[in-house]
Amino acid sequence: MRKPMVAGNWKMYGTKSQVDELVKDIASNSHDLSIDIVLAPPSIFISQVAALTNKTNLKFAAQNCFYAVNGAYTGEISPIMLQEFGCSYVILGHSERRQLFGEGDELIAKKFHAAYHAGVMPILCVGETMAERENGQTLGIIDKQLDAVISLAGIQVFSQAIIAYEPVWAIGTGLSATPSQAEEVHCYIRGKFAKHNAIIAEQVKILYGGSVNAKNAEELFGQPNIDGGLIGGASLKAEDFVAICRYAEKRVMV
Ligand code: PEP
Repeated sequence: MRKPMVAGNWKMYGTKSQVDELVKDIASNSHDLSIDIVLAPPSIFISQVAALTNKTNLKFAAQNCFYAVNGAYTGEISPIMLQEFGCSYVILGHSERRQLFGEGDELIAKKFHAAYHAGVMPILCVGETMAERENGQTLGIIDKQLDAVISLAGIQVFSQAIIAYEPVWAIGTGLSATPSQAEEVHCYIRGKFAKHNAIIAEQVKILYGGSVNAKNAEELFGQPNIDGGLIGGASLKAEDFVAICRYAEKRVMV
């Protein structure tokens, strides 16, 4: 049984007092849940979130990192630094990093490899644009994005590392993939892993991300291969985020 996960990607939002309030609200309303709940604040708030989540069931993640251990890389943060501050996960390959900051598959694979070996588990985002979907390229794009990582880091890493299927056209648009559209891709990804290793295919956690909210989460998380969600906008409202977490918890109860 794969433990469900819900991760909140706060992107570049928040002030110190909003972070304080949001974490306290989420912690006090989710302590009875047994799923993995992960908060990904902007990196400047990581220490604050570390202190606030201490002695709670919440874990935290970074939204990005570089691959080197240290060096002359102005503005970057290394996986070792994240590990020292208690980060359990790091989001890598988010479409905003790919599109706005020009990150390609090779760079993302190097970051993945370095983070994994530093003990900070990658949440690897993959997904197609609307044009790619309309041209029938969805599965080919997913293959290309996953293969870059698999060829550098191997298959075994996915017993712990996480995949988030995030169709680019669904992110921040209010236009979620339908449960069957999402399930089709999740099923494809699990099948791809099964060709390499049946045990890893059963273990790999595949989250869905793209306009998940408190209204559509139940049906999405009801699909057999959707193990939870990576949540953007709705993760900034404690009430909505916790409601989404509760729908993921239902997977544990069936
Ligand atoms: C995201 O940024 O990863 C995301 C899924 O955003 P939203 O939920 O706002 O679509």
